[in-house]
Amino acid sequence: MPTNYQFQSLLYRTRTDMLRAIAEAWITGGEDIATVDVAARCADQSNDEIAAECIRAWALDEPTLDEPAHMEQCDYSAEDLAEAIGELRAEHARAFTCYGPVRGQCGQRHATIEDARVCIRADHAGCIEQGGYSDRVACGIDADGYLIDANGDFVRGPDGAGIEADKPAQAQAEHAPGAAAILAAILERLEPGTLPSRRYNRLVRIGTVEVLELRDHNSGSDPDPDSKPRHQFTATTDGTIWCRVLPPVTFGDSWADTGAPRWEPVAYLDGIIAEAAPLLQRAPLLRMRRQAMQDGQGCEFYRVQGEDMDVGDAARVELACGPVTGAWWEVPLPPCPDCGGAVAWAEAGFVPGTRECQGCGSLFTVLPDHEGKA
Ligand SMILES: [Zn+2]
Ligand SMILES: [Zn+2]
Repeated sequence: MPTNYQFQSLLYRTRTDMLRAIAEAWITGGEDIATVDVAARCADQSNDEIAAECIRAWALDEPTLDEPAHMEQCDYSAEDLAEAIGELRAEHARAFTCYGPVRGQCGQRHATIEDARVCIRADHAGCIEQGGYSDRVACGIDADGYLIDANGDFVRGPDGAGIEADKPAQAQAEHAPGAAAILAAILERLEPGTLPSRRYNRLVRIGTVEVLELRDHNSGSDPDPDSKPRHQFTATTDGTIWCRVLPPVTFGDSWADTGAPRWEPVAYLDGIIAEAAPLLQRAPLLRMRRQAMQDGQGCEFYRVQGEDMDVGDAARVELACGPVTGAWWEVPLPPCPDCGGAVAWAEAGFVPGTRECQGCGSLFTVLPDHEGKA
């Protein structure tokens, strides 16, 4: 459907150009934009609020007697207009800086957005030299010191405060000790013996922070790992695990609709990350105990020397295996208390943590114990 992108009697080549003109006309009130302090005029309102006010005042959503509403004619929503306002705002910030949720801020105020881009290219080149990359993007600094990205979203509070998603960046210096080794061990366990170049999952370095990146196997039908969304995990010393989901590599680090994803604390852990979570935080004491199982009626029993036994018949066994220093599945286990045989990994078909004696078939559970940590 051919659409005329017309606004205030002027015709625009694209919808984006027209939205831009509406945003500019509303914010400047018809004055020359070069003489207007855009940051100050927008300081007290969000992009959404400004868009809503503009639509109401200019009746952009109201049809007239002989024409449909302007928003309908030119096919845009309040969100589209808010985005255009955000972009205008970002460009007309008083100063610019470079910021990435992991890499942090460059610490400089740049006079123009071009200067910021030069700074980012230099940072990126420096990171690549050390095997990583930089996640910094150019941000405007608004009148109150907030950083606004190119989508008009606030990405950081004044003086680096106030926005929860900054935590991984702030904690960068005190990145959980040994986390890199643990992330590497998780990776090795996910894809044992695979050449790094063939791996579906990988460790990436964003600045100096090691991040575990898992590709979502279940997304899309293209088997190429570069076509899959990337789940990134990192940890901070306070014990929080952080996650964010990036689009496939070929799309870069920003989603088309929502922009660069922020790091969020992980509230719900599953699979290998749940298993690894304690490791990312501190070295726990590892314990091996008899594995309690349940029959159909919910009664507990143990498997001792290959036979199922009532709880009353089996003395409970609990052995300390020492503190975990690497990955806990790598810690040598004590011999089986029932026969002296070797106890080995047996999680296939059993719950995570299950270990089985190769000699007699006794079942044990191995768990990291945080209470017992030295
Ligand atoms: Zn910079
Ligand atoms: Zn045994």
